[in-house]
Amino acid sequence: AAKADGKSCVRTAARAIDSAMGRRARLARDLPAALEQEHFRMVYQPVVGVEERRILGLESLVRWDHPQLGTVPPDEFISLAEDEGLIVPLQRWVLGRATRDAAALHAAGFEVMTSINVSVRHLQAGCLAPDVASALAEAGLPPHKLILEITESVMLDAEDRLESDLATLKEMGCVLSVDDFGRGYSSLAYLARLPVQILKMDREFVADIERDERGATLVAGVLDLGHRLGLDVVAEGVETVGQLRMLEERGCRFMQGWLFGRPVDADSLPEVLTAFDWGSFTAVENADLDI
Ligand code: C2E
Ligand code: MG
Ligand code: MG
Ligand code: MG
Repeated sequence: AAKADGKSCVRTAARAIDSAMGRRARLARDLPAALEQEHFRMVYQPVVGVEERRILGLESLVRWDHPQLGTVPPDEFISLAEDEGLIVPLQRWVLGRATRDAAALHAAGFEVMTSINVSVRHLQAGCLAPDVASALAEAGLPPHKLILEITESVMLDAEDRLESDLATLKEMGCVLSVDDFGRGYSSLAYLARLPVQILKMDREFVADIERDERGATLVAGVLDLGHRLGLDVVAEGVETVGQLRMLEERGCRFMQGWLFGRPVDADSLPEVLTAFDWGSFTAVENADLDI
């Protein structure tokens, strides 16, 4: 029986791999048409200021609405688009949509920054700065309202060319942010070299903050490092009031995570921005204490 079980395990695993490969192959096949037909959608997640007690920014996150497969998350198709040579058109669509949504919010009187996630391939293709410039111009969005988030791994292989493109974006007035800081990379030298103003601490740090003293010490260390370098540090993945309090105690001034809001469609933003109430998190804490 053990042998039969083993075999069926292997078969199940093989089928799982098969279907995973089948899905990736299928997504690769469908991606060009999806781009052409604009089967993508942007959602926006609040970034909050602890001192300001309000939503200061919105991170734009792309979704693929596949007619048969439903919503496909970016972790499944960004690397695919990179491999298929389609990341530049996809990022151009993202830039266009997100800057127009941001401009509409400003026209409606909402003072928030918008973050866009950038692909290293776009930077390597050499057209990121001009593409950002034309998206801003077409949308009528001031450059200083835009934050470009670049994943840490990108910074590591940043060659001189990439550095100068980043410098161009900075000179244009855009704000540069290091995303997923601390996720699997250990070189810190680029932090001193590149023109970044924001450091986004990976959510793994936040997840560990309540685990033990070491987890808390690491978070304090990342906050201290960022602040000493003159950067604004954003904690990602804040899910509980306990995490909020510990981060606050350690001087963290900017946070993002499900506690403050899940990503929502652009249509819902006026409502989300208007209804946001910092006091409701204190209420949650009091409710916790009552139990
Ligand atoms: P990211 O830039 O680090 O974005 C944050 C991710 O964490 C988002 O996942 C968000 O939904 C999720 N998240 C936010 N708060 C919480 C929380 O409290 N707990 C947990 N567990 N997760 C939380 P999402 O939307 O699936 O995006 C995944 C990644 O895909 C992003 O990570 C980013 O690297 C990439 N991505 C998303 N949109 C774009 C895009 O337009 N262009 C590019 N190049 N990459 C994108
Ligand atoms: Mg990001
Ligand atoms: Mg990222
Ligand atoms: Mg991140």
